[in-house]
Amino acid sequence: MNLLIRDILAVLPGGAEVCSVYICDGVIASTSTVPKGFKADKIIFGNGKMLIPGLVNAHTHAAMSIFRSCADDLLFNEWLFGKIQPMEDLLCGDDCYWGIMLAALEMLRTGTTSFIDMYYFTDESARAILESGIRCVFSRGIAGDADVVESKLRTAIDEIDRWSGNGSGVASADGSGSAGTNGSGSVGADGSNYSTGDGSIASGNSSIALGDGSNIANDKGRLTFMLGPHAPYTCDEGFQREVAAEAARRGIPINTHLAESLAEIDTIKERYGCTPIELVDRNGLLTETTVAAHCVHLSDSDIRLLAERGVNVVTNPVSNLKLANGIAPVMKMREAGVKLALGTDSAASNNSLNMFRDLAMLALIHKGANHDALAITAREGFEMATVHGARAMGHDDLGEIRQGAIADLAVIDLDRPNMQPLNDPVAALAYSANGSEVETVMVGGDVLMENGEFLTIDKDRVYHEISAICKRLGM
Ligand SMILES: [Zn+2]
Repeated sequence: MNLLIRDILAVLPGGAEVCSVYICDGVIASTSTVPKGFKADKIIFGNGKMLIPGLVNAHTHAAMSIFRSCADDLLFNEWLFGKIQPMEDLLCGDDCYWGIMLAALEMLRTGTTSFIDMYYFTDESARAILESGIRCVFSRGIAGDADVVESKLRTAIDEIDRWSGNGSGVASADGSGSAGTNGSGSVGADGSNYSTGDGSIASGNSSIALGDGSNIANDKGRLTFMLGPHAPYTCDEGFQREVAAEAARRGIPINTHLAESLAEIDTIKERYGCTPIELVDRNGLLTETTVAAHCVHLSDSDIRLLAERGVNVVTNPVSNLKLANGIAPVMKMREAGVKLALGTDSAASNNSLNMFRDLAMLALIHKGANHDALAITAREGFEMATVHGARAMGHDDLGEIRQGAIADLAVIDLDRPNMQPLNDPVAALAYSANGSEVETVMVGGDVLMENGEFLTIDKDRVYHEISAICKRLGM
């Protein structure tokens, strides 16, 4: 399949310029000359449009879109333990399937083409992700003490093996997370079956047989995995050490939450006499493929440690503000050389998955808080929302419009008063756009939304199912 995006203002790594983008089999073949023998199967005309790399939401819990606007104006512990967790106890796998579909609608609608997720019900989540066509790195959230770590890891690893095409190839249809028919779902002890060495998990072109007899393709590794120890206050030291050891053994990256609230800092200090960053580091969880969300409350030595270990920190400005957790020391982290990406967190704490809002908020709060208009520039914020997010996912071939990159792209309509005059395209994206300008979106060259119409998801059905779930949960 060859796709041509003709004469469009494209935001390239070196700056915005008008060019034509030639896409062959989901990869950008050229942004200048016509590739040899290229014949377009489909043409998108770029007049009056702008082309950007699809945004990368590097931290979210997509299925929690079900909980939008039902637990607001609460402090973090009250929000999590008082409201959210009791409702989560009532969720079933089907709920998560529809929750992810709703999240995919919102993300695609606002130009996000990939996300790093942590939640439960991996099988239903995987089905929703693959059916929608969006790109995702999924991690089953796991927590507890040393007594339960083995069984929780087993479940998570079995799911990863199955959906990566390494296991028996049979996914449970009941959301129980049980292993496939051979019950082992094992891979080589060195993890070489799915570790690409750059921190990502290559799934290849595996076709997964579902329990109901149907098949679903994990096309070109669109769905990959991390291990998700939830947080230092929900996973004890023995748990953390076992997860770190298994992750290292198999070459699977870690996705976790760190130093989100002051309550967490106090709890960890009381239990262990150190900071959350020091704790997880001494248990082996901080590596150059680790993705750590939040990192709001950090000492100077915490920041040095995050930089030294090469951790991918994902800042979540809107969620941190809304839950009154504070403002992450992003400027200090940047000065120390910490790798930084951007995420929304869930729609239960944001209350949106619209990366344009987080992009503007990121730049604005750090300018204001630091009395420095250069604190985060439009270009820096945009790169955190695209190419640096892709790096956190383990991709060095994503998040940029250049030859050889995967064609995860969004077309922006410039026929909007808030996008005129377009003096500086990247400033307009960071400070003027609100996400509604996104018109057409593709992932791996597959068009998932065209002129605002969803091609892979039945929007009305999703709204209907979500409304029924909310009713059942008593929301
Ligand atoms: Zn989170």
